[in-house]
Amino acid sequence: MVSQLKLKFITRENNKMKNEIEESITTNKMNNINSSDFDVEVDEFEQHRIEYHNTNLFGESLYDSNGNKPISDEEKLLMTERLEKKYEEILDILRINRNDPNSSNTPHRVAKMMVNELLIGRYTLPPKLTVFPNRKNVNELIISKGITVMSMCSHHWQPISGTVSIGYIPGKYIIGLSKLTRITEWFCRRAQIQEELGEQIANYLEDLLKPKALGVVISSKHYCMIARGVKGDEAKSAMVTSVMRGHLLRELNLRQEFLKLIND
Ligand SMILES: [Zn+2]
Repeated sequence: MVSQLKLKFITRENNKMKNEIEESITTNKMNNINSSDFDVEVDEFEQHRIEYHNTNLFGESLYDSNGNKPISDEEKLLMTERLEKKYEEILDILRINRNDPNSSNTPHRVAKMMVNELLIGRYTLPPKLTVFPNRKNVNELIISKGITVMSMCSHHWQPISGTVSIGYIPGKYIIGLSKLTRITEWFCRRAQIQEELGEQIANYLEDLLKPKALGVVISSKHYCMIARGVKGDEAKSAMVTSVMRGHLLRELNLRQEFLKLIND
């Protein structure tokens, strides 16, 4: 008798849940055709911003995920220790037993990897660079393509993996090609969105070289999509972003030549 009652109750609850789900699907459908959806998200962001603090619990300043503020080795060590404690909590919350030999040292390992590798571009000075005078007045495109991009998306903290092609027509200065790789790596070692990674590299090179033309084209895979199995984003798909400055922005023929050379 008791079990029958219980069953009825469950059935009634299920029906209620079913109705609720159907209702929410209908609401979502309506929302999908509502053009103000985007505005709602921006509003939420603005609200979040007002409540946001500029310093953390320790009084240290907070800045954008792809920003840079060099810190000392001692500060890096302290950061790693604090982070390790937090990763221990994360494993506990996820009910991962740290007696498991494969997980026992994971908080330490992940904390070190974050501070010293994946996010190191936030905490170190830019690589040492030498620029050379453009003695022969080179006035053609200089291109380095296939430079490795290995970064992390700031939305999901998953890898972004691909390549960048950088091309420029020098003004007074030229730069060794290996330095373009170093600059790219320094900017990649932060949590990014790809659009801003390209802009950051371009801004830096523009300040440094004052080139007549500059192009930065990134093509990469985003594992936040691949790992989660987001439809239509299998391993073969890629996101391409391009930043064009100077003559490459204004002159269509030059841009076509650049794009042809980097895609050949
Ligand atoms: Zn993402």
